Amino acid sequence: MLTIFFIFDKKIIMENVNVSLVIPVKDEEGTLETLYEKILEVLESLNLSFEILFIDDGSTDRSFDIMKQLSQRDSRVKVVRFRRNFGKAAALSCGFEKAKGEIIITMDADLQDDPKEIPKFIDLINNGYDVVSGWKKDRKDPWSKKIPSKIFNKITAWLTGVNIHDFNCGFKAYRNEVVKNLDIYGELYRYIPALAYSKGFRIGEVVVEHHPRIYGRSKYGWERLIKGFLDLFTVVFLTRFLKRPMHFFGGLGLLFFIVGFLINLGLTIYKYTTGALIGSRPLLLFGVLLMILGVQFLSIGLLGEMINNVTHGRKKEYLISEEIGFE
Ligand code: UDP
Ligand code: MG
Repeated sequence: MLTIFFIFDKKIIMENVNVSLVIPVKDEEGTLETLYEKILEVLESLNLSFEILFIDDGSTDRSFDIMKQLSQRDSRVKVVRFRRNFGKAAALSCGFEKAKGEIIITMDADLQDDPKEIPKFIDLINNGYDVVSGWKKDRKDPWSKKIPSKIFNKITAWLTGVNIHDFNCGFKAYRNEVVKNLDIYGELYRYIPALAYSKGFRIGEVVVEHHPRIYGRSKYGWERLIKGFLDLFTVVFLTRFLKRPMHFFGGLGLLFFIVGFLINLGLTIYKYTTGALIGSRPLLLFGVLLMILGVQFLSIGLLGEMINNVTHGRKKEYLISEEIGFE
């Protein structure tokens, strides 16, 4: 009887985390303490149990020492330190794996996301949404970031069928079940709403206040946009065609074959009816060749993604050097 109680007790303790905050950190020494205080102010007033999971993604400044101190002061703070910088995606995956909360909230460490918005996310999850995505409606970043991002979001919403405005927003909340059932790798975390939607989860959106970056600097530039655009192909492919790659590649192949056949047929008829020469159009040939090559390269890329998706998960994409504050 005693044992049963003990196990029961332990189960309660283990499942007692309502909210896990997952925060990726790369060189954010200027904001961590303030961030921690702001989070406490909000979460303590909500009267629920929580943990704060910092993933130190290879910081080279004092970030790790600060987080370590916070963890020593407060047992709800846990820190995972990566051996080197593996990227925000890896940091989030690691956080998802470690998180014990029923609700998992991700936010940036640079104070651009405001902890006072957290209750809005929790409310929507409690209202039945499985994923709640923040929308930085009034985004405090330079125009060079805002305009491409707007176009990108429109295309993504259209292609994935998920009608939210701000896929890239790092401020999001998830029901535990969602993150434990997702296969994200590389930079695909950005498309979690689309990936989750394809699995039948309900997606919601909430407007959040956004602040300019005051300390440190952004770790991302233009290359992220290009990579993000390429990832969009992957996501559409993975969510729509993964199980039937033939429907994708075969469809494209068929289309090209038919177009090519019609062009040749047309040129042949042209030659026999007018007697004209048809073999001297280098630019046309060049253009056609480039297009076919382009599609082939893209298709090979997608095949690679498919293999990646099937085999991933057998090997972690990050290495941990220290874990602090875990039982
Ligand atoms: N970050 C990270 N690893 C990286 C780059 C960034 O963990 O390689 C973290 C960073 O510390 C911050 C969040 O990811 O908490 C968002 O980064 P940033 O503010 O540079 O992106 P932006 O707001 O400019 O999109
Ligand atoms: Mg930022």
